[in-house]
Amino acid sequence: TSFAADKPHYTIATDTTYPPFEFQDKDGEYRGIDMDMLKAISKEEGFTYTLKPMSFNAGVQAIQAGQVDGLLAGMSITPEREKSFDFSVPYYKTGVVIAVNGKDKDNKSLDDLKGKKVAVKTGTAGAQYAQSIAKEYDLKLSFFNDSNTMYNDVKVGNTVAAFEDQPVMAYAINQGTDMNIITKPVNTGGYGFGVKKGANAELLKSFDKGYDKLVKSGEYDKIVQNYLGDNS
Ligand code: GLN
Repeated sequence: TSFAADKPHYTIATDTTYPPFEFQDKDGEYRGIDMDMLKAISKEEGFTYTLKPMSFNAGVQAIQAGQVDGLLAGMSITPEREKSFDFSVPYYKTGVVIAVNGKDKDNKSLDDLKGKKVAVKTGTAGAQYAQSIAKEYDLKLSFFNDSNTMYNDVKVGNTVAAFEDQPVMAYAINQGTDMNIITKPVNTGGYGFGVKKGANAELLKSFDKGYDKLVKSGEYDKIVQNYLGDNS
């Protein structure tokens, strides 16, 4: 008999790729701030988990359908989501920005995007923001399931801009994605680990407790530093 058999086991969904929060390293291993944090928290709190990478939107739906226990995917805590999710404490500050092709010298502000085609990621806070201003700015929205494909659409010139979270867009640009952020972050808030409302209270409590320990021990800062260095 092993202790492990007594540990609670959960299925946790994450985004297929959302660096620096989750991404596959060259060995196919999932790494990133979310992933390292989850690993450390699970050790601290004594639970095991199976990771289920899927598109962000699929993750949101899997939670609502009760197919997975938790979603850790650089997920913004929004008032709308709080109706159907229970969230951990916010663990990272975020906001939505707009980025254009690095070679684009014409589109320097939201006003310049009037009447143009822009790229958004299905089911995200960025998409929601774009939809909220689409009428006013006459934006034509193209939807993508993952961030890379969305950036690529701007790179090849199908769309003029992408709506993305500031820390994620800034990281991608730092890593060599040829894009420029042209707006200040809006709809700012925090990232949270989410479970279906009213479900998995024990898992959520463990996450918060474990996170608190990581913050106090300095481990959380180390994880962030490891990916962002001086840019954190
Ligand atoms: N933070 C954004 C949201 O919650 C995007 C998350 C993501 O694309 N993984 O909608």
